[in-house]
Amino acid sequence: GTPYVMLDYLGLGDDLTEEERMVRDTAREFLDEEIRPDIGEHFVEGTFPIEKIPEMGELGFYGPNLEGYGSLGLGERAYGLLMEELEACDSGMRSMASVQGALVMYPIHAYGNEEQKETWLPKLGSGEAVGCFGLTEPNHGSNPSEMETRAERDGDEYILNGNKTWITNSPIADVAVVWARDVSSEDSPVRGFLVETERDGVSTNEIKEKLSLRASITGGIALSDARIPAENVLPEVSGMKGPLSCLTQARYGIAWGAVGAAKDAFEQAVEYATDREQFGKPIAGFQMQQEKIAEMATRISLAELLAHRLAELKERGDLRPQQVSMAKRNNVRMARRVSRTAREMLGGNGITTDYSPMRHLANIETVYTYEGTHDIHSLVLGEDLTGIAAYK
Ligand code: FAD
Repeated sequence: GTPYVMLDYLGLGDDLTEEERMVRDTAREFLDEEIRPDIGEHFVEGTFPIEKIPEMGELGFYGPNLEGYGSLGLGERAYGLLMEELEACDSGMRSMASVQGALVMYPIHAYGNEEQKETWLPKLGSGEAVGCFGLTEPNHGSNPSEMETRAERDGDEYILNGNKTWITNSPIADVAVVWARDVSSEDSPVRGFLVETERDGVSTNEIKEKLSLRASITGGIALSDARIPAENVLPEVSGMKGPLSCLTQARYGIAWGAVGAAKDAFEQAVEYATDREQFGKPIAGFQMQQEKIAEMATRISLAELLAHRLAELKERGDLRPQQVSMAKRNNVRMARRVSRTAREMLGGNGITTDYSPMRHLANIETVYTYEGTHDIHSLVLGEDLTGIAAYK
């Protein structure tokens, strides 16, 4: 068919540096050759291309915007473009990179001691080890500060008890960053613990019944008197700032990723509509379809501008979490609308795995919900804009 080209209506691609283009093109080429041909099958089977995890590491997909410890040290825009390419393939691919880089490597990098960094960052960066991020619990999703998971000091160890659920990659992870209340410290602050999953008292299970983000592994983590050495606590952070700062990093990637999913759905719809004939002409030649195409391209372009602006703010250290909330909220809603419209333009063929829009649409239901639901980001913005918190 037609070569794969991404929409760039506002010519943002023209402003990219050599390095940024290289990152984008390398990712695109890898995904086109190694992942796209089988992604529909992975989605149907509910599997992730696990065997590609090390290759993705070699290509610098995990935490390339961090400094040192084998990382590429990329700028934030290059990192964003990488997330865009990954999610243009599948939200499961971007989720893998987001969890490994933004939710596991980032907290070790930001809050770990030298030994933790040297032990884990090179291995996670190369994909030799897989990490997961355990915040959500069966009874505490949007309000993780009410978490029940407990860590109790016992000599040189901590004893962990509790249950985490909806944890991306927990069944294949070597290490989990588990957020738990340290009940041995005053006021029981939330702290981050590096929990190797092979330890006694740690078990994981897989959640199989998903209708969304199927090309991604999701599971639970059960901690039952799991003993970990006290040196596995992340020393440099306590309180909800720990997990929330990681989520800001991942949400930044989602704001970019959503643009990729939407563009991919858009491209497929336009290609199909210019090819498919009904009533004696291509369906793209009907005004009603053109209105849909114009609307999709406009929404995608606006979301893309937002992502580019975030990159500038992040690069100079001025990015506020509330600005990331605005972009996550807007761009994911955009991707949800665009993938739905793209699906409808494909008619019956649009409900199969032969085309991407329905897969993106199904995936985006997860992206709309995780990393702070759409509603919760409305409340974040509401509080920021009025000074009045409306969560409770
Ligand atoms: P709830 O918090 O129960 O929310 C249900 C509904 O109520 C939502 O629509 C929500 O917007 C609304 N709501 C809640 N509170 C309010 C309020 N104050 N005002 C108005 N409306 C409100 N978590 C991790 O820790 N690590 C992971 O790797 C991870 N991966 C995930 C992968 C998948 C596939 C999925 C589906 C989830 C994942 N999550 C992960 C969990 C995810 O972050 C949570 O699902 C999310 O935070 C929402 O929590 P909940 O599902 O318990 O929904």
